[in-house]
Amino acid sequence: MTATRRSLADATLYPFWLDNPLAPSSEAHLVGQADADLLIVGGGFTGLWASILAKQANPGRDVAIIEAGKVGHGASGRPGGIVSTSVMHGLSNANRIFPKDLPALERLGKANLDGWTKTIEDYAIDADLEWSGEMTVAIGHGGMDELREEFELAKRYGHNVVLLDREKTQAEVASPLFDGGMWSKERSGIVHPAKLAWGLKRVALSLGVRIYEHTPMTGLEDNGGTLTIVTHDGRIKAPKVLFATNAWNAGHKDIKKRIVSVRDRVLATEPLTQEQLSRLGWKNRQGIYDTRTQLNYMRLTHDNRIIFGGRVGYFFNNNTDPAQDRKIETYDRLAGYFFNTFPQLGDVKFTHAWSGPIDLTMRLAVHFQRYYGGKGIYAGGYSGFGVTATRFGASIGLDILDGKANPDLDLDFARTLPNWIPPEPFRWIGAKTTMYALDEVDQKGGWRKLWISMVHKMGFPL
Ligand SMILES: Cc1cc2nc3c(=O)[nH]c(=O)nc-3n(C[C@H](O)[C@H](O)[C@H](O)COP(=O)(O)OP(=O)(O)OC[C@H]3O[C@@H](n4cnc5c(N)ncnc54)[C@H](O)[C@@H]3O)c2cc1C
Repeated sequence: MTATRRSLADATLYPFWLDNPLAPSSEAHLVGQADADLLIVGGGFTGLWASILAKQANPGRDVAIIEAGKVGHGASGRPGGIVSTSVMHGLSNANRIFPKDLPALERLGKANLDGWTKTIEDYAIDADLEWSGEMTVAIGHGGMDELREEFELAKRYGHNVVLLDREKTQAEVASPLFDGGMWSKERSGIVHPAKLAWGLKRVALSLGVRIYEHTPMTGLEDNGGTLTIVTHDGRIKAPKVLFATNAWNAGHKDIKKRIVSVRDRVLATEPLTQEQLSRLGWKNRQGIYDTRTQLNYMRLTHDNRIIFGGRVGYFFNNNTDPAQDRKIETYDRLAGYFFNTFPQLGDVKFTHAWSGPIDLTMRLAVHFQRYYGGKGIYAGGYSGFGVTATRFGASIGLDILDGKANPDLDLDFARTLPNWIPPEPFRWIGAKTTMYALDEVDQKGGWRKLWISMVHKMGFPL
């Protein structure tokens, strides 16, 4: 057995965040006929925020959520849990996709984070929130140039950022791979995502939202003035339906034309001892991303584990439940990346390994697909950057659904859609080749670099 495999030998194939005695019991599933003024399909962050915002705006509105499994068991209970202000997958991505709307997107991102924080505080949601900032670390060729560009942009938009050379970065977090860093010190940090989802569930229930768990939508009927959503044991009729279904593509067959459902893998270590922590530094506990094309992200938990993620897979036909992710060997390579990043932690074992669905789009950020003459809307496409942006997606999705007079709906992010992505089998062939190339593009270059630059030209920001 290799050292990497030994480090995974006792790992549970389940998200660390969800493996918690604080997990609430399930609400009953839907049986029989029901009505709602607003129905939300999907009980992750997007669906929960939509229900809360709808109730806060109009307490008399009858709001229901149906969730296929348990609340927070989709992406929302599985992420790194790094908190950011951006609602467009970071400032650089916002600048790439909507340069002319950047000031408005910055305003919207700040307002969104304020609202996100206020709800957590007002309802005393205990989600281990730490405002420790986020840090992008430069790894390999071009990493520092990328950081410098990002730094200039962040300064221009008034962010409290510092650029760190190799020595200063090492003083923050010791890794032989980190050549430098950009630490964004405010309005970002880390959160326990499952505790956040469970807290939002409590808030939604306290506001009178009906939540039906273990209630997958299995069909849909358009009755003209209303939609009827069919489930295993019931039917629920509503004039407005928000599909908050992330990478699942429930609601309309066309949703998946713009979404590739990929899976991202994550590991959790055992809690580090004070001595192990002293080999690392990381006293400021930032959430960390690196600059590589196939990036890793990492953060500490409240009990000083390291959550380490970032190895994406795609499975034919947008399969969101591949058998491969339930095999420990799937996590070997990610564990290898962990030990390359932190060789001083060779004695650390992993307790949990899991994967989660990501709704990847060419835009890398939320978009809104309108269906059924405006009665239904899909809000998603966060592309792995939705811990706070989901509240924004929910809010804009609701405003579009309700036909609200909101000048922000005239901006391109709300009106336009990301490009179509080729169907199967081209999608699978393209995704597999891209992932193979990505694995070693930064070390080997060659045809891998050419392929990645071609994919880039097609509109995928790799
Ligand atoms: C591994 C990983 C790491 C990530 N790390 C970060 C991070 O550090 N920072 C960050 O900002 N973002 C991160 N993200 C992204 C973030 O977690 C997501 O963008 C966010 O949780 C999406 O929330 P959602 O409610 O849209 O989707 P989900 O939480 O996936 O909710 C969708 C729900 O819809 C339900 N559903 C699907 N089909 C049906 C149906 N037919 N009927 C009823 N219900 C249905 C599902 O069961 C699911 O619960 C990460 C994501 C992953 C997977």
